[in-house]
Amino acid sequence: MERIEELKTLLSTPKKITIIPHTRPDADALGSCLGLLIYLEKMQHECIVVSPSEYPRFLEWMPAHEKVVVFKKENERGLKEIKEADIIFCLDFNALNRIGDLEGPIKEAKAAKVMIDHHLEPDDFADYSWSETSAAATAELIYEFLLKLGNQATITKDIGECLYAGIMTDTGSFRFASTSSRVHRIIADLIDIGVDNAKIHQNVYDNNTEVRLRLLGYLLLKKLVIIKALDTAYISITKEEAKEYNMQTGDSEGVVNYALSIRGIKIAAMFKETEEGFVKISFRSTGEIAVNKLAKEYFGGGGHKNAAGGRSDLSLKDTLDKFNKLLKEHEGKF
Ligand code: 5GP
Ligand code: MN
Repeated sequence: MERIEELKTLLSTPKKITIIPHTRPDADALGSCLGLLIYLEKMQHECIVVSPSEYPRFLEWMPAHEKVVVFKKENERGLKEIKEADIIFCLDFNALNRIGDLEGPIKEAKAAKVMIDHHLEPDDFADYSWSETSAAATAELIYEFLLKLGNQATITKDIGECLYAGIMTDTGSFRFASTSSRVHRIIADLIDIGVDNAKIHQNVYDNNTEVRLRLLGYLLLKKLVIIKALDTAYISITKEEAKEYNMQTGDSEGVVNYALSIRGIKIAAMFKETEEGFVKISFRSTGEIAVNKLAKEYFGGGGHKNAAGGRSDLSLKDTLDKFNKLLKEHEGKF
């Protein structure tokens, strides 16, 4: 990170700090925010996380998660924390359109803004930016950031648990190509400071509600569409189905990976009709197929080459038609 010394000076006296993850924060976004929060609180800063929307229930075990203000539920409190902050950290996103209704308030905030992220093509909205697209997770960058601010001894077990969860989920449990030797070294450090790796895996992956598992069963049995000729598989969920299965935030997380796990499948997608009326889309791919291009060019989104997302304001049916048409036009190559 450039100008780290300047940032260190800024952090050398107690400050009021607000930390922001992207909308619908995942374990990397939330873990990065909470890991940083715990560290900064130990350094005598006054900290809070303001999340644009709710975080999944399977992350409720994270240390300090009670320090998250959900903007959708606590509008005024969220705005106050942003307005009054001396420093705002933006973690795991690199464009202000990733934080929904917080975009305006963050733009207007007087605070010094620090962005730390690993997505492609960052926007230039922060006073201090650290964008490293080769990092597997933002939590990996937070670990290095904390080392730069302090030393190994200042990274405690509770911080480590948050960062471990972020790195674990963004690397698909250490199996994606992004899982570098650096990732394994950091993970080794985290285990050395007492992080219980097996417990975190259990907390995240063996924490299904009955509802989520039955929803998954239903989606795989009834809603999985496979287009063999184009090496593609996708799943869609209507608003009615979400209601019928009492779907909660995070319940559909990871479902798209089942579609990608089918032998021979190179592109997978999941389409979810939201309460707000648009369709939220997750894309996954293998190898050289760049779904972030597909997401950016046709669905107003972005992300990484093999894991991206976007949205559509068409109906679910029209969105699926558009996706099918695009696949045929590009013969499944993006
Ligand atoms: P997921 O499918 O797990 O929600 O997201 C996969 C990746 O795509 C994540 O890295 C996420 O940050 C990114 N992503 C998801 N939705 C959007 C979106 O609407 N816009 C952009 N720019 N990135 C997205
Ligand atoms: Mn991430």
